[in-house]
Amino acid sequence: MYDLIIIGAGPAGISAAYHAKQAGLDCLVIEKGLIGNTIYNYPVGLTVFSTTNELEFNDGDLKPAREKPTREELLSYYVRFVLDNELNVLTETAVLRVEKKIPAKMQSRKEEGFKVYTETEEFEAANILFAIGAMDYPRKLNVPGEDLPHVYDHFRETYPWVKKKALIVGGGNSAGEAALFLAQEGAETTLAIFRENWESTDPKQGCIKYWVKQPLEAELNEHCLNLFFLGKVIEIREGEVELESEKGDRVVLANDVVFVLIGSDADLSMMKGLGVETENGKAGEVPVYDPETFETNVPGVYVAGHFTNQRHIKGAIDAGQAVIRNLPAKHVKER
Ligand SMILES: Cc1cc2nc3c(=O)[nH]c(=O)nc-3n(C[C@H](O)[C@H](O)[C@H](O)COP(=O)(O)OP(=O)(O)OC[C@H]3O[C@@H](n4cnc5c(N)ncnc54)[C@H](O)[C@@H]3O)c2cc1C
Repeated sequence: MYDLIIIGAGPAGISAAYHAKQAGLDCLVIEKGLIGNTIYNYPVGLTVFSTTNELEFNDGDLKPAREKPTREELLSYYVRFVLDNELNVLTETAVLRVEKKIPAKMQSRKEEGFKVYTETEEFEAANILFAIGAMDYPRKLNVPGEDLPHVYDHFRETYPWVKKKALIVGGGNSAGEAALFLAQEGAETTLAIFRENWESTDPKQGCIKYWVKQPLEAELNEHCLNLFFLGKVIEIREGEVELESEKGDRVVLANDVVFVLIGSDADLSMMKGLGVETENGKAGEVPVYDPETFETNVPGVYVAGHFTNQRHIKGAIDAGQAVIRNLPAKHVKER
């Protein structure tokens, strides 16, 4: 029986595992992909928008070549951190189910806790931390043709699309960055975006960051990028897409590849199955939790990171630490 099982080895899960180890807790991290899987899935060569102090576990640890780290520098830092600190992380193993243990007799502390199921193994823990991020369900347009093989829900790299006709649908920074990378490297790029998203400068609305917007505008001026003020996407077909403009005009564009980058949502079903309550947060449904202890309404079930109200890495790292600081002694197994 572990003191703590952490589901997810992103910044939140790694931070919690590190502080759990410092606190002498017996802890296991179970990760369905790779260490730092969300960062692994960032576009190749991306420079992240946060500064090192917002991304590192200990001050001064992360030393990028320039002011801000690239995907590769950040990923390498997180992987090395796990290895150097000998954190107990099981990768490429998805947690499929978590159940409360039902004590056989009267409330016996030793028998309380949780069972955690993967495809091949079963674990027990006194406490569970969900640090599962919010990348499980990429949002869909729900239009005909969206399941064609040339339609992607995340952008990985530019080079397969040089000289191809690329359409990016989306209004946030990920869509802006993908359009910029593609336009700069010689794809015939169209960004289909709602006008209010293009004109927004409010970071709270997840607008395109100015250091992405400015070079995008430069690409527009050089005629290397097309901007389409979107009403809606009508249909994606082999070789073309049909769009409706903000004014209601129907337009058919020749097309080789479509990137639908309109956000993603967490899978809260395991948590809800345990009885964790949810509410409407800033960016959709979030679990209800104590903002200091990060414990949910279900004793022994904690949450941290992207699927809570802390959407960025700094908040995820701080939450991971706070969970351990506040993990009450009563929830730690009797040894
Ligand atoms: C392109 C891009 C650029 C970004 N740039 C920045 C930036 O500059 N600064 C910033 O602060 N934020 C940035 N973000 C957001 C940032 O990635 C998230 O805030 C951060 O990853 C949150 O950390 P986390 O630990 O909460 O979740 P994640 O990093 O998403 O980690 C969750 C982990 O849980 C795993 N998992 C999920 N379900 C299960 C399961 N059932 N079983 C086992 N494992 C599971 C996932 O595989 C994943 O590895 C960016 C996001 C994107 C997409």
